[in-house]
Amino acid sequence: MAPRAYLDYNATAPIRPSAAAAVSEALRLGGNPSSVHASGRAARARLEDARDSVAALAGARPEQLVFTSGGTEANNLALNWALGGRVLVSAGEHSSILEAAPKAESVPLKGDGRVDLAALEELLAEAPLPSLVSLMLANNETGVIQPLAEAARLARAAGVPVHCDAVQAAGKVALEIEDLGVQLLSLSAHKIGGPAGVGALVVAEGLSLEPLLRGGGQERRRRAGTENLPGIAGFAAAAREAAGQLCESGQLARLRDRIEAETKAIAPEVRIFGNAAPRLANTSCLAMPGVRAETQVMALDLAGVAVSAGAACSSGKVAPSHVLQAMGVEDALADGAIRVSLGWASVAEDVDLFLAAWAELYANTKERQANRGIGSKGRDKALAITGSARYQNGET
Ligand code: PLP
Repeated sequence: MAPRAYLDYNATAPIRPSAAAAVSEALRLGGNPSSVHASGRAARARLEDARDSVAALAGARPEQLVFTSGGTEANNLALNWALGGRVLVSAGEHSSILEAAPKAESVPLKGDGRVDLAALEELLAEAPLPSLVSLMLANNETGVIQPLAEAARLARAAGVPVHCDAVQAAGKVALEIEDLGVQLLSLSAHKIGGPAGVGALVVAEGLSLEPLLRGGGQERRRRAGTENLPGIAGFAAAAREAAGQLCESGQLARLRDRIEAETKAIAPEVRIFGNAAPRLANTSCLAMPGVRAETQVMALDLAGVAVSAGAACSSGKVAPSHVLQAMGVEDALADGAIRVSLGWASVAEDVDLFLAAWAELYANTKERQANRGIGSKGRDKALAITGSARYQNGET
């Protein structure tokens, strides 16, 4: 089989063997953590052991953790606590924030992708006092890291609690909930090499959550329903491994920087988004001007390379990225943005494969442009249509 390169870790990281083994072991263990008999007690012990490991990833205490069905539920649970009041969210948040709080007020981003702290301060000063600020730590499309501690300081001075969507940052940068100064923090297992469908919300002591799911006393009455023990065990194994690999981010940054340097060397008109701000080491959002992202994603896929369109996808259509729009990038350029994201199993050969396929696509495009009039536009359009039909519903 031809070699393949998976460069879409921000969508879902490949499962780590240790996480797959932990899932399988917990499936075999069986038992309900709420049962009082020996099987139940063994399941409870496994659950609490996993809670310790996941809490450690966020520098939190185990009792602060509420396990959920993923980052989306954690974000919804956090916002559910504040709905009814004024909520401030950044313009670059994931759709699981933007759609869970449709009446939230938007805090603009600056051109470099970071939130405008002066605008946040002004919104915090307006009456009535907001009930929550929600800010992601790292953006899923650009990897830009937000000045969260500074934003939390402004919110604290105004007496407003802060929720942080740390789904993309966890396992890639060190997290300490106290240092960040936030009261709520969302995590997701499948972004760090655990299974999909499991996540957690970290809740500061003294903050009483408004549950989304009722009907049981699990998770200290904060989230009803029998815990997904196999998923949680896999999450914990991935958390332990990811925490141990934080020091390897320099290696990922070197691979990512090579992608950016070599694409620029091939095509000086390439645009890279968010690179003027601090970024996750694993993420690059780059545009090949004049070639739609869907066309690039499909051509790269045919060459064995998996990346995402930088744009958000919904209902099978690729819309312009709200993140790039919020950064002031014009739609024509944003349409050509793809996201390349690396992770725990990425190697130099993946980058070689990406660069070779990208260079070929660029050369073919240039050739088509040079031979304009032989149907190049139509072919590009056809590729784009076929490409977009492959998208699932949902932002990653
Ligand atoms: N928040 C961010 C920043 C994300 O990138 C994602 C996933 O794409 C989510 C939340 C949702 O997480 P999950 O897929 O676990 O529901």
